[in-house]
Amino acid sequence: MAQNGIIENGQPKGEIPGLPKPVKITEVKYTKIFINNEWHSSVSGKTFPTYNPATGAKICEVEEADKLDVDKAVLAAKAAGDRGSAWRQMEVSGRGRLLNKLADLMERDRALLATMETMDTGKPFLHSFLIDLDGSIKTLRYYAGWADKIHGKTMPVDDNFMCFTKHEPVGVCGAIIPWNFPLLMFVWKVGPALCCGNTVVIKPAEQTPLTALHMGALIKESGFPPGVVNILPGYGPTAGAAISNHMEVDKVAFTGSTEVGKLIKEAAARSNLKRVTLELGGKNPTIVFADADLRLAVEEVQRGAFFNQGQCCTAASRIFVQEQVYEEFVRLSMESAERVLAGDPMDPRTAHGPQIDQKQFDKIVDLIRSGEREGATLEYGGRPMDRKGLFIKPTIFSGVKDHMRIAKEEIFGPVQCIFSFKSQEEAIERANGTPYGLAAAVFTRDVDRALSVSAALQAGTVWVNCYNALHAQTPFGGYKMSGHGRELGEYALAEYSEVKTVTIKVAKQD
Ligand code: NAP
Ligand code: MG
Repeated sequence: MAQNGIIENGQPKGEIPGLPKPVKITEVKYTKIFINNEWHSSVSGKTFPTYNPATGAKICEVEEADKLDVDKAVLAAKAAGDRGSAWRQMEVSGRGRLLNKLADLMERDRALLATMETMDTGKPFLHSFLIDLDGSIKTLRYYAGWADKIHGKTMPVDDNFMCFTKHEPVGVCGAIIPWNFPLLMFVWKVGPALCCGNTVVIKPAEQTPLTALHMGALIKESGFPPGVVNILPGYGPTAGAAISNHMEVDKVAFTGSTEVGKLIKEAAARSNLKRVTLELGGKNPTIVFADADLRLAVEEVQRGAFFNQGQCCTAASRIFVQEQVYEEFVRLSMESAERVLAGDPMDPRTAHGPQIDQKQFDKIVDLIRSGEREGATLEYGGRPMDRKGLFIKPTIFSGVKDHMRIAKEEIFGPVQCIFSFKSQEEAIERANGTPYGLAAAVFTRDVDRALSVSAALQAGTVWVNCYNALHAQTPFGGYKMSGHGRELGEYALAEYSEVKTVTIKVAKQD
């Protein structure tokens, strides 16, 4: 989400007015499966732990949903969306009112939700509160506004026919979400699904189930009818696969790895050909031209690389800098990295926390080592931090070549890879030389160059002289293997609606 001028390169610019203290959470209240507005134990009786990645401490046990729990939830979601149900009969503006009520309750619990998000993910409280919560609340309000504005068209044919379209809900919408933005991804899926009148069965990531479950309590308190939203904490290969394989789930929206994205599509094809939208990885290029405002470029690009500890599908992971300003860019980037304050994520000044888990930590360290081995220049960081927890120092490589692993693989860690280029054509060619196509950025003061380069880049989003500027109003999604379909904005409504054509024969009048 766009940052709001009081954070510069992830770091607060002095005191932040209105930033509350994290809430002291002694016990997590909601740890069960949420079906039909009630809390359920898992059918199997199993639970699983969730940890705080900043300390390694176990936060609590959560009920572990599996196939039988998914079956219960789908049954509830189907009944909640049936013809004649309270949800289907509700005046459409009522859906908007409920979504706004849910946003109000998130505002009320904002500090608590931000604290819980920080505890479960390790992301700085500063960012949870100001970015994740802000973006989630705005997204809900945006879709609340759409609820009574979703309409079809009339099509002229001839005097013998009257033709019009209606936009109807798709039905039961499955959602499988990742751990990097647990609350935001929850809202990106649930907001458009509900405003279009669907019902939802959603599985949060195994590492980060807590804020999704708190949302269950708020959904009930808002007054949504039972079964409209069902929340199933659990594992991907069990609960996730049960959703994507289910014969009564009409659509599945997934955010996560390209590898699992392929499994989801396969499962959809093998079961009932449910609709699939995918938001997958990226190896996003940024092109910095010699005429750019260099300080702005350094700051925006570095924030793009390090934000959320680099655990972003939009991470600025390939930075092409024109040779005239290349050395200066590397020097300023190192200076800027010095200012990133890493440490306890609950400390309101902290802008850099731990990685999510040991598996991701090991993968990132391995990729950093490969960069050194393959001959890139390690300019900064490159080491775990000397403290408990899964902290990796922000890392900068220069002299990166296109064939290196760090140039090709999604790192999902705080690693900035800087390349040098000569001509515009060369930069475009190399930027597009990836199977991914999620986001890209261009830094230049020349508007003609900005327009022609953004037209040439194969990416679902192109930022010009900014980075990670995401808004509820603007569609987001990928070209190529970064996925398909769009989330956010008006475009997302199409992913959650069926279009029905009604054709009426008009009898001849004497
Ligand atoms: P992942 O496995 O793709 O996880 C995303 C979601 O899919 C989680 O809820 C996961 O459940 C679920 N899932 C896993 N296997 C599944 C299956 N067979 N069927 C249905 N659902 C399934 O991602 P990860 O393992 O956490 O991270 C690996 C890499 O994915 C990262 O290094 C990064 O490159 C990429 N990633 C991308 C994004 C993004 O925003 N696009 C986000 C996270 C990760 P579990 O909770 O059991 O994992
Ligand atoms: Mg956790």
